[in-house]
Amino acid sequence: MSTHSYDAIVVGARCAGAPIAMLLARAGANVLLVDKATFPSDTMSTHLVHPPGVAALRRWGLLERLEQTGCPAVERYSFDFGPVTIAGTPRPIDGAARAYCPRRTVLDALLVAAAVEAGAELREGFTVEEVVADGGRVTGIRGHARHGSSVTEHAPLVVGADGRHSAVVKAVRPGQYDERPSRTAMYYAYWSELPVDGFETGIRGERHRGWAAARTHDGLTVMPFGWPIEEFHANRHDIEGHFLAMMDLAGDLGERVRAATRESRFVGTSELPGYFRTPYGPGWALAGDAGYHKNPITAMGINDAFRDAELVAGAVADALSGTRPLDDGLRDYQRIRDEEVRPIYELTDAFARLDPPPPEMQRLIGAMHGNQEAMDAFVSVQASTLPAPELFSPDNVARIMREAGADG
Ligand SMILES: Cc1cc2nc3c(=O)[nH]c(=O)nc-3n(C[C@H](O)[C@H](O)[C@H](O)COP(=O)(O)OP(=O)(O)OC[C@H]3O[C@@H](n4cnc5c(N)ncnc54)[C@H](O)[C@@H]3O)c2cc1C
Repeated sequence: MSTHSYDAIVVGARCAGAPIAMLLARAGANVLLVDKATFPSDTMSTHLVHPPGVAALRRWGLLERLEQTGCPAVERYSFDFGPVTIAGTPRPIDGAARAYCPRRTVLDALLVAAAVEAGAELREGFTVEEVVADGGRVTGIRGHARHGSSVTEHAPLVVGADGRHSAVVKAVRPGQYDERPSRTAMYYAYWSELPVDGFETGIRGERHRGWAAARTHDGLTVMPFGWPIEEFHANRHDIEGHFLAMMDLAGDLGERVRAATRESRFVGTSELPGYFRTPYGPGWALAGDAGYHKNPITAMGINDAFRDAELVAGAVADALSGTRPLDDGLRDYQRIRDEEVRPIYELTDAFARLDPPPPEMQRLIGAMHGNQEAMDAFVSVQASTLPAPELFSPDNVARIMREAGADG
């Protein structure tokens, strides 16, 4: 049994957990951050960070550090729908209009280092076996270091930032709502000598195929791609063959891929359900994928984890300083999270079907093509710098159609 007394224990030290520990430690809290991984550590994920996530890194004083790692900036987004490509520059949000696509080995290690620098105690290679509770209230964790025996640590709050298969979730069994089935099998790999212009995405709804590409560290380009979950078993023994057949649909990008060199194996999963979970209860809170998950086709996970981190850390810091009761802060966190992500959750689920866009959307896409202001607005929704309801409001859609002479 440990004699330490922590204000909070954070389980999981990646995009959600490390910033929570960092922000709490900066606010003067005594924080224990644990992860079964040791950093730098990769994880199954591509890694586009949209401008709101970049703005968070800047607020936290970490953007310059990321830029110093040699990660190329992504300034342009494009969507190849087949008949037309919608391309543009996202609107800025909080002064950030660029995205970055840092390897998780780099980004997560940078976040962990910032948490430690702020004063959080880090235990890497530490697996949480169970959550400890007393009279229905979570009071700590029990876990072990690699080759170590079990230890118990106590805190008035345990934050589960431990991802989709969260041990904290298994213990506290939060309510789960607005679930969506897994719709896509998604893979990715890295190529050298594959030039791309910003974040290039493509969808061929009639063939149920989707892909994306962005430059990352070390001169590599990461390409995620997917097909419907119904094809998962049939295609899994020849990922490369199916990928190359997909690239036959991808025009110029397909040619660039054939001229490039694949530098990694294909990695992927078909387990990509959508869910919201009640993110707090007596003595516990959830952040990142542990509390809310969606298909990665819109690449929102890191952004979402960063937003959760600020909201959870803000709620805890307020409670510690006596500004606001913890439950009030965490209730606000759930409300803000749910309100903010709902429209993009729906859009993500629609994209994840990899179906042709509905006829009215096809007409709108056709009308946007060539209208740079409208195309910038479209990519801003994908970049998460413009709320989807603003772009798709009846007035705005009517205006775009009118400007294209397509309203008759
Ligand atoms: C194929 C794919 C592609 C993706 N592409 C993108 C993208 O381009 N952009 C984007 O923004 N998002 C993307 N995502 C989503 C993104 O990866 C997640 O949303 C993000 O990693 C969530 O961060 P997190 O900190 O909540 O959880 P995680 O990154 O899952 O981290 C959880 C941590 O908890 C630790 N942990 C778990 N259990 C325990 C335990 N019992 N004891 C101790 N530690 C534990 C794990 O070791 C891990 O380090 C993608 C996901 C997938 C699957």
